Amino acid sequence: MQSTTVPAESSSAALIILSAPSGAGKTTLARKVLLALGKLGRQAAFSVSYTTRPPRPGEVDGRDYHFVTEQAFSRMVDEGQMLEHAQVFGACYGTGRQATLNALAQGQTVFLDIDWQGARQVKRSSPQACTAVFILPPSREALRQRLQGRGQDSAAVIETRMNQAVAEMSHYPEFDYVVVNDDLERASEALLQICLGAVPPDCRAEQHRGLLAELLGEKVGPTR
Ligand code: ADP
Ligand code: 5GP
Repeated sequence: MQSTTVPAESSSAALIILSAPSGAGKTTLARKVLLALGKLGRQAAFSVSYTTRPPRPGEVDGRDYHFVTEQAFSRMVDEGQMLEHAQVFGACYGTGRQATLNALAQGQTVFLDIDWQGARQVKRSSPQACTAVFILPPSREALRQRLQGRGQDSAAVIETRMNQAVAEMSHYPEFDYVVVNDDLERASEALLQICLGAVPPDCRAEQHRGLLAELLGEKVGPTR
């Protein structure tokens, strides 16, 4: 993979990786934090990824994703235009290198909504320049209820997403912080603090061993 030239030394620029199982509330949280950063006078934006999957109803090209063909995606990869890229659920997804670097160069906080494979690539190539945050649901049941409450997916799709959630969440140790999205206000404040460079008191994975064990379907060991 081509190395990145993310400007690690810039005081206001920040690359924030957000990963989560579908339905954990990543989009809801990130929108709140974008607004809060704006009120603090900081420019912030979501990176718009490239994908080969077809648009879902209501999705807009250039706003939700750049929807491209497999040939166009491969060409971008070959030409080094992707900051990271991965296969997720049978389709290709990637983050455009130039748009991300331009936004960072302008002093923006950039959110990358990417999976663990992409997070690993960005962290490996520029570890000082980014902060990786894993968003967790407060329980399996809450995750299921949020997927159902969102009303976007059939029962079969929700079952698949619940199984995929366990695989995705098993990568939490590769992230700098975990944010448990229980209470939206508390969780968004924690994410905001991380974006501002602070370390909130309850965002270390080892503080959530019981919850992680429940989410991953493991037996909880002794807590000492
Ligand atoms: P994701 O982007 O991770 O797939 P969404 O942001 O779409 O998840 O959230 C999934 C559903 O859960 C939405 O209906 C949202 O309103 C709801 N939700 C998000 N955060 C919370 C929370 N802290 N408490 C209760 N419901 C939440
Ligand atoms: P969806 O198709 O439901 O929007 O996204 C499916 C998964 O792809 C999510 O886990 C999302 O985080 C991930 N994803 C979206 N864009 C990118 C990207 O640019 N790179 C990587 N690695 N994953 C992405």
